[in-house]
Amino acid sequence: MTRASFAARLVRWQRTHGRHHLPWQGTRDAYRIWLSEIMLQQTQVATVLGFYARFLERFPDVHALAEASEDDVLALWAGLGYYSRARNLHRAAERVVTEHGGRFPTDAATLATLPGIGPSTAAAIAVFAAHERRAILDGNVKRVLARHAGVEGYPGQAAVERSLRALAEARLPTAKRALSAYTQGLMDLGATVCTPRAPACARCPVAEDCVARMTGRTATLPTPRPRRALPERRQHFLLALADRDVLLVKRPSSGVWGGLWCLPGIEESANALVEAARFGRPLSGAVEHLPPIEHTFTHFRLSIVPVCVRLERVASTPAPQGTLWLPLDEARSAALPAPIGRLLFEMASNRSSGR
Ligand code: SF4
Repeated sequence: MTRASFAARLVRWQRTHGRHHLPWQGTRDAYRIWLSEIMLQQTQVATVLGFYARFLERFPDVHALAEASEDDVLALWAGLGYYSRARNLHRAAERVVTEHGGRFPTDAATLATLPGIGPSTAAAIAVFAAHERRAILDGNVKRVLARHAGVEGYPGQAAVERSLRALAEARLPTAKRALSAYTQGLMDLGATVCTPRAPACARCPVAEDCVARMTGRTATLPTPRPRRALPERRQHFLLALADRDVLLVKRPSSGVWGGLWCLPGIEESANALVEAARFGRPLSGAVEHLPPIEHTFTHFRLSIVPVCVRLERVASTPAPQGTLWLPLDEARSAALPAPIGRLLFEMASNRSSGR
């Protein structure tokens, strides 16, 4: 008996074992699909669910999102991390309104011209919203294909990615009506069965001809990123506290942590008391260097050194433009870089527990 195609097995499996009740499924509204696809990049479904509902309640359509301020969008995104997604989301909404009359594009070529929409996200939206014949190729799909076809080499390398793309395109189902179930099936398989560690091959619909399973290479495929030493940087940040409030500055909209609220960066050689005196009266001469926090970006490692100074707010010294006194208790819900948010949240928790 001949074996059903990869696509046919996946579509059949998706219908019985895949996910069907996620709030962004069962719609062809490109705005809603786009929002879910962006939120699901680098974030688990369970986390996205609440954010997705709150976001849609506040911004039910692309017009509402385009008209909002970037600060409002970032604040609602707080907790999801990777804030460049939120900034791009906002910019893309503005472009849809100004360049497309508020009608969200549904073809992959136009979608890929919008900020924050890469080829795979464009393909997913085009498949779900318009049944366009496009292949998705995100990290999950690369993993499934690399294992199933036994493709060696780090998928981030151009030649390996080209091979995987060719495979992804060759495996698309021929029937247009099967495209959505197939694409969803690939997503579901990568998220629930062919997981990064310990894939559940016994439950996999394409296990029969999976090269990685047959050759005992499920643990080594896909080939991991070649190790390289990341450059290290160190940055001092002023942690100015006045009673229960902390001083924040708005970062420029481009670059690292663009548009987020953050502790003011200071030179390592700077006198923290002098720097802090611009915002209030230092309470004592004590300056406390807190233990550094290590944070890894894609291209470098950052050692964050918080330099704590306690201040008394002076009524005649209003906070300069682009700065904000935020109650420590609210740090969790503010649009802050993740390591700074964690630091402030910990401080707030220690204070409430009296430590
Ligand atoms: S058989 Fe295992 S390794 Fe192969 S695709 Fe299925 S879950 Fe992944």
